Amino acid sequence: MELAFTEEELAFREEVRSLLKEALTPEIIAGNKNSTTSLGDNNAAMAWQAILHKRGWAGVAWPKEFGGTGWTSNQRYIFNSECERAGAPKLIPLGLRMLAPVIFRYGTKEQQNHYLPKMLSAEHYWCQGYSEPGSGSDLASLKTRAIKDGDEYIVNGTKIWTTHAQYADHIFCLVRTNPDVKKQAGISFLLIKMDSPGIIVEPIITLAGDHEVNQVFFDNVRVPVNNLVGPENEGWNVAKYLLEFERGGSAVATRLQVDMAELNIMLRDLPEEHELKKRTAITNIEVAALSQMETDMQAKVASGKNPGAGSSLMKMMASSLGQQIATLLMEARANYSIPHNNRLLLEGKETIGKEQGQTITANYLNARASSIFGGAREVQKNIIAKSVLGL
Ligand SMILES: Cc1cc2nc3c(=O)[nH]c(=O)nc-3n(C[C@H](O)[C@H](O)[C@H](O)COP(=O)(O)OP(=O)(O)OC[C@H]3O[C@@H](n4cnc5c(N)ncnc54)[C@H](O)[C@@H]3O)c2cc1C
Repeated sequence: MELAFTEEELAFREEVRSLLKEALTPEIIAGNKNSTTSLGDNNAAMAWQAILHKRGWAGVAWPKEFGGTGWTSNQRYIFNSECERAGAPKLIPLGLRMLAPVIFRYGTKEQQNHYLPKMLSAEHYWCQGYSEPGSGSDLASLKTRAIKDGDEYIVNGTKIWTTHAQYADHIFCLVRTNPDVKKQAGISFLLIKMDSPGIIVEPIITLAGDHEVNQVFFDNVRVPVNNLVGPENEGWNVAKYLLEFERGGSAVATRLQVDMAELNIMLRDLPEEHELKKRTAITNIEVAALSQMETDMQAKVASGKNPGAGSSLMKMMASSLGQQIATLLMEARANYSIPHNNRLLLEGKETIGKEQGQTITANYLNARASSIFGGAREVQKNIIAKSVLGL
């Protein structure tokens, strides 16, 4: 299927390009480029969100009735691709892209009125409390317990790998409200304030030296029953609905093409028969194939069809290629790929070696995570085996 843009869509692309030219500052671009974590630098993302919010564009994928852009899927794709190309930060998805669709569908009027505007303006910063030690891929086995006590729940347990919990003032959590039924049937979806007494956030430092993820502990945390989203014990449906939005939607191929352009420049003086150059050529072709798949998928979505298992295939390909490119970049910069050079950069200190070497090792190390979060590679393979191969 071909993705051909209409006159209106091309005019919209010009509008996006001119906003990027006018409003995207060198500081925001640098903040984004220098960060090597999965979600990127949150200061740069917040500064970019403030600009978009002023323009009415922070709710990229939101319907108009909730203060969003009401854009079509093609407009969203154009917007995301242009932002990637220009070096704009990704908006932090935890509230805007993950929780928001849940509140649109399952939230009460009060919840919609209270939370949605504060998500757009970034007054609230959300984190996701799904995974627990021992409950990642097998998420439904989660044990964090919520027991009703009058008009409150009392929550006890722990969540792990909680991205940006150190910045968040709110967490959306899956909790067990009934331990005596089939595991999927006893889960509820709760919104919890991070300054509630009994919550402790412990940092987990990644191999690259970054603080992006955390473990969050709940010790007799009291949460108003009004903070329940959807019916009690039906949180599994809410959780699955949210995951559909976690696992799709962005213009990944464009970002990989930007990285490939950088790699191609680095290697331009090497002879064609050099082993690194040959592997880079193969990767160039694979990225071009992913880009074609992404536009095919976009055309499918724009015509009202479901991406189906295609989104699992794309997720797997994108994470593998991202890791492959990170490896090539590290080999290409060899002696400049100094571990933790990025820390020096973030702390405003002098770095060692050329500019491209500053973040390469950290990017390489952090890229390992992309085949785990948002559904591990093997789990995606299981989905493909079931729905495409009928196994
Ligand atoms: C950087 C990062 C950020 C994250 N942020 C968040 C967050 O903000 N909030 C949150 O809730 N979670 C977050 N996660 C957690 C993430 O969702 C889990 O790591 C993921 O679901 C895998 O779970 P696990 O780590 O428990 O691994 P496990 O599920 O224990 O998997 C271990 C290995 O076994 C394989 N495996 C598991 N089940 C099967 C199966 N049925 N068949 C074949 N192989 C299988 C997996 O593919 C993997 O290789 C984050 C993770 C990372 C790495």
